[in-house]
Amino acid sequence: MIPAEIISKKRDGLPLDEVEIKNFIHGYLSGDITKAQMSALLMAIYFKSMNKDETLCLTEIMVNSGTKLDFHNSKSYVADKHSTGGIGDKISLILAPLMAASGIKTPMIAGRALGFTGGTIDKLKAIPGFNTSPSLTEFKDWVDLIGAAIISQSKEICPADNKLYSLRNETGTISSLPLICSSILSKKIAEGIHGIVLDIKVGNGAFMKTKEDALELGCLMQEVGSTYGLNIDVLYTNMNQPLGRFAGLACEVNESIECLGGNGPDDLMNITYELGSKLLLQAKLADTKINAIAKLKKLVESKIALKFFNSMIENQNGNLNAFEKNLTPRYEKILYAKSSGYLNIIDTERIGWALVELGCGSKTPNDTLDYTAGINFVKKTGEEVKINEPVMRIFNSNQNRLNNTLELLLKTFIIEKSPNKTQLFL
Ligand code: URA
Repeated sequence: MIPAEIISKKRDGLPLDEVEIKNFIHGYLSGDITKAQMSALLMAIYFKSMNKDETLCLTEIMVNSGTKLDFHNSKSYVADKHSTGGIGDKISLILAPLMAASGIKTPMIAGRALGFTGGTIDKLKAIPGFNTSPSLTEFKDWVDLIGAAIISQSKEICPADNKLYSLRNETGTISSLPLICSSILSKKIAEGIHGIVLDIKVGNGAFMKTKEDALELGCLMQEVGSTYGLNIDVLYTNMNQPLGRFAGLACEVNESIECLGGNGPDDLMNITYELGSKLLLQAKLADTKINAIAKLKKLVESKIALKFFNSMIENQNGNLNAFEKNLTPRYEKILYAKSSGYLNIIDTERIGWALVELGCGSKTPNDTLDYTAGINFVKKTGEEVKINEPVMRIFNSNQNRLNNTLELLLKTFIIEKSPNKTQLFL
């Protein structure tokens, strides 16, 4: 194999065959293919895409780059949820324990921040001691014991996604349908699950900016996933504003705890229940969507789901008492409305990049995260705002970065005299 020849082939829009894709990915994992060569191939895929056969091939190679979990002896339904990424999207933190509480085993492999979107693993790391890198045996034991565990890709499980994920983050090659499809599904297939619900985010804070792109990704993922016999449901949800009232690290964990305690904001809880109901129906633990949602609401109202969350955190060595310190940022600034009217538009992607600047994501591979960092969305789209009222509260523990972020955030919302009747969505 001549790496430059394969890169040139894809650069010129030609399909790659199984051997070429396999040799390239294996070569990158073993160190024979350089980071520069892999980055070039990713960029070529970003621009020229891959056909369905190439995407299937890439997914299979990524799954087989590590070990697959085996739950075939499990008496319970084993399932998971994955989102294509958004701002303030903390649903995995709420849904994993909620699924465990309803009797569905949830072995969740999640990722770190990707581009302008937040990462479940980064948020969980705001809890001191929380272990996201167990051995495979430990991971399976945790799922068997508690019902849910959330870990990261590793050298053992999905090593190809582990390496490609961070390289895509460094090289601006995230938003590609075959790369997103293979990244998500390789992790999920390696979990050995029976079913999955995919939350495809659409809007100005998602990788899929249009309904057409989202539908194309949804269909591709359904096709690829079903070749592995997975039960798949797909939901397309609004990412034209951050989800919930907070985006950041510790503050999102805290909002998730609020949600599991029965005090979650409607936008966040409605999607959580919709996604959860799909899995309950797949598992035949409910016969209708209405019954499924009622069941999930009961588990939240009774605080049973919160108990599962606490057990999951404790089991993974997380210390929720020590976590309080990450809820106390050193600096804070408030953005006020300069006029009265209605908050009609939020530039959600720009908010995502502002969060990276604030310390919630890495600008360079060696950047350290600021777990205290985040934004509180005092106002959400469609709400009335009076002049000089707070719109956003921004906080972190690094004053320079907070000041840089303020500049970015000033351009992220538009207040108009009358409400926007045609809210940006599907
Ligand atoms: N989530 C993933 O795991 N991978 C992607 O490429 C996008 C979202």
